[in-house]
Amino acid sequence: MKIFFNDDGLPTGLMKSGQHVGVLCVDDSKFILKQLSQIFVSREFAVIDTAENGAEALVKYKENQDKIHLITLDITMPEMDGLTALKKLKELNPDVNVIMVTALGTADTVKEAIKLGAKGYIVKPLDRGKVLERIGKIFG
Ligand SMILES: [Mg+2]
Repeated sequence: MKIFFNDDGLPTGLMKSGQHVGVLCVDDSKFILKQLSQIFVSREFAVIDTAENGAEALVKYKENQDKIHLITLDITMPEMDGLTALKKLKELNPDVNVIMVTALGTADTVKEAIKLGAKGYIVKPLDRGKVLERIGKIFG
C-alpha cells in the first residue's frame, strides 16, 4: 500500500489508489484518542473507529477489517492490554499494520511488541510530527 507524501516530507492519508487510509485508534484515554484522531483527520486519513480496550478493538476490527489499514494500539489498557490484542489481531490478519502507543519507560514491552509483529511505536506524550514520521516509515 503506497501513499502520497506532502512537500513537508510527512505522509498523507491518501493512497496512490485514491482511497483514504483507514485507521482504528485504540486507547483507554479519551484525550489520546482525540489527539490521534485530530492528527489523522488533518492529513486526510479516515478514522474508521476508536476503541477503549483490546477486546473492543478486536470487535471493531472484525466489523470493518476491509476498511482498516492501520491500527494505533495503546499498551496499558483495562480488560485486554495492547500486547494481548496485538497477538489476536495478528492471528486474524498476519499483515495487519499496528503501531504501538506507549508511555516512556516501557522499552521491554515495546521490544516484545515489535517481536510480535508491530510495525513501530509512538511515545506519549504525542508529538504530531513524530507520529506522522513513524507512519511515513510504514507506508513509505
Ligand atoms: Mg492506557
